[in-house]
Amino acid sequence: MKLLQERIRQEGLILSDKVLKVDSFLNHQVDTQLALEIGREFARLFAGRSITKVLTIEASGIQFAMAAGIALNVPFIYAKKKKAVTLSEQVYAASVHSFTRQETYQVSISQKYLGPADKVLIVDDFLATGAALVGLVDIVREAGAELAGVGCVIEKSFQEGRGLLEQRGVHVHSLARIASMSPGEIHFVGEDDEASSGSIKENATC
Ligand code: 5GP
Repeated sequence: MKLLQERIRQEGLILSDKVLKVDSFLNHQVDTQLALEIGREFARLFAGRSITKVLTIEASGIQFAMAAGIALNVPFIYAKKKKAVTLSEQVYAASVHSFTRQETYQVSISQKYLGPADKVLIVDDFLATGAALVGLVDIVREAGAELAGVGCVIEKSFQEGRGLLEQRGVHVHSLARIASMSPGEIHFVGEDDEASSGSIKENATC
């Protein structure tokens, strides 16, 4: 998705060769029109798959799951990271290790909202180590639901996430795939060197 690549080039802050900050338009302040466009793109990519639910994980997947749910005209569910007192019913749960926070936490969703009749599209903001998405894939399978695939807004293709999902037979679509990055420089998958080596903002290292 060209528009997304351009925004990453213009506004992304590359904190290291592994961490990209996109807080100004994707996952802290959110450009709502871009989020809706991302939802439409996911809906287009998974058109004809008879999706009944979109699934994500709180918090930064929510705006994209909602946008995809609107475009597909289906509900979305977000897995909760802490079991709320209001979540008294039976849950599906998985353990996830967070790459950015360096901690392991439990994600859960109520068994009321996912079952064998569902066909699920999982979406998230980033695909990095794949831990969060593998957790959601396990939950979908435990529920006996069918998985249509995974849609990611940004994939860091130099990390192992895509490989882990594909090993599990999961179909992955990412809207921007980063082949490599370092402060001041970013390369997207599928572009030749000259086109892809967009310099990124000078203050990208801050
Ligand atoms: P995972 O390592 O499980 O694929 O990524 C889990 C979560 O970590 C993502 O959903 C995303 O919220 C966060 N994350 C991973 N890599 C990055 C990154 O480079 N930048 C930001 N902002 N978040 C990231």
